[in-house]
Amino acid sequence: MENKQYRVLLYYQYVKIENPEEFTAEHLAFCKELGLLGRILVADEGINGTVSGTVEQTEQYMKKMHADPRFADMVFKIDEEDEHAFQKMHVRYRPELVNLQLNEDINPHELTGKYLEPKEFYEQMQDDNTLVIDARNDYEYDVGHFRGAIRPDIRTFRELPDWIKENKEMLDGKKILTYCTGGIRCEKFSGWLVREGFEDVSQLHGGIVTYGKDPEVQGQLWDGQCYVFDKRLTVPVNRVEHVIVGKDYFSGEPCERYVNCANPECNKQIICSEENEHKYMRGCTHECRVTPRNLYVKEYDLSEEEIQERLAVIEREEAATK
Ligand SMILES: [Zn+2]
Repeated sequence: MENKQYRVLLYYQYVKIENPEEFTAEHLAFCKELGLLGRILVADEGINGTVSGTVEQTEQYMKKMHADPRFADMVFKIDEEDEHAFQKMHVRYRPELVNLQLNEDINPHELTGKYLEPKEFYEQMQDDNTLVIDARNDYEYDVGHFRGAIRPDIRTFRELPDWIKENKEMLDGKKILTYCTGGIRCEKFSGWLVREGFEDVSQLHGGIVTYGKDPEVQGQLWDGQCYVFDKRLTVPVNRVEHVIVGKDYFSGEPCERYVNCANPECNKQIICSEENEHKYMRGCTHECRVTPRNLYVKEYDLSEEEIQERLAVIEREEAATK
């Protein structure tokens, strides 16, 4: 393994946490004392986090967590990195770890789909009678996904059950495989599918991140990158071949570089090349380009004249394609 100074840990555990709000405050103090940075959610039903720190800090964190009987067998997915993946340390209490907006919640310890290890998932996804459903949001799918996976047309995870109900015929009689980044969303989603009456439901154990690290499968049949919720934005998965599926927001050209719209009130994440970032002043719309708060304009200290020049280029081009 390369000798990198930092690590990113991704982990979750569905387990009953008593007094979760108290736990949240204590856990934040503990993480700060260690010097970790990241984002952790705590709920009555468990914990879900991504944190970054030095090798030693993350070692200490894992050791301490594993010493707690509630988290004794919690799996940590570890990425070696050159720097922190976060700027701050947040630990927040939420009523639920993942929100499917169900009237009756799912406890994955009681009801969930079959767990498939990367090798089994790889084999079963190639079966003709299999449907692979991406259990993530559309913007996550757009920069990378399993080859041939279904992209539910939803903006957030909680819309997924309704989307499934509307598209039920497509799924009937099929072998259903679900996957998400680290596995936490599928625990509930696959359980919900079973409760809805789908008979053959399986989930990718450990999620895409584990799949990409599997020494045998090596991320094969994954196209693009995997979207992650930290500073890195995307991480590689397929170690055998690299197919780009992301498309530049402005030109539609193959691209997998994410930026945030420079209008802080918009902040939309868009895929775009460096060239187009400059051309469009990192604004996803005309309004976002011309707002006085545009961060790109501040960053590059553009004069009013320079802004007008760039807007004129965009306008000329738009006129030419109409
Ligand atoms: Zn915007």
